[in-house]
Amino acid sequence: MDENLVRQEISTYAKSLFERGYSCGTSGNISVKCGQDLLVTPTNSSFGSLDPERISKISMEGELIAGDKPSKEWVLHAGFYRKRPECGAVVHLHSSYAVAVSCLEDIDTANCIPPITPYFVMRVGDLPLAPYFPPGDIRLADAVTELAETHTSVMMANHGPVVSAKNLKAAVGASEELEETAKTYLLIKGYGFTTLTKEQIAELKRRYG
Ligand code: ZN
Repeated sequence: MDENLVRQEISTYAKSLFERGYSCGTSGNISVKCGQDLLVTPTNSSFGSLDPERISKISMEGELIAGDKPSKEWVLHAGFYRKRPECGAVVHLHSSYAVAVSCLEDIDTANCIPPITPYFVMRVGDLPLAPYFPPGDIRLADAVTELAETHTSVMMANHGPVVSAKNLKAAVGASEELEETAKTYLLIKGYGFTTLTKEQIAELKRRYG
């Protein structure tokens, strides 16, 4: 894996997410596994203007190896790498519709967004809710890590989603799918709506894993 290419790839995807409104200000962070270490977007950096060379390189324990100081939210990413050996990248966004869902009072904590479309089921699956703790609090990282053992994505209450996948392209794609499905869910929530049945979900898992 060419580290410079990964740095460039992170900047390119971040800029695309910024330009399409998935990340505003300095919110959100991305990490990619690079050998034994992690490349993480720096603290207080904007997705719209990342300098690839200044992206933080840290050990799995959080020691800074190169670049700027990492986002303090890197600890939310670390649990996915620890618990999911196949995990190659993690994306965390404060995207509006997903954050809105994370604030609902009647939320299903086992699955914040019902299985309303096949692509949501395939790319995200069950989306459990981690309880609210302040950003950077170790209790939040612990709650996310525990759920990461059995889920590729976790929603944090009154905060937003953390999404893992085997590579950055897939993690960004799943994050976009999550945001768009959150939007759809909020559009239909006040009406009666149907979800995929257990049998339909099982068929998707059989066909696409
Ligand atoms: Zn956050």
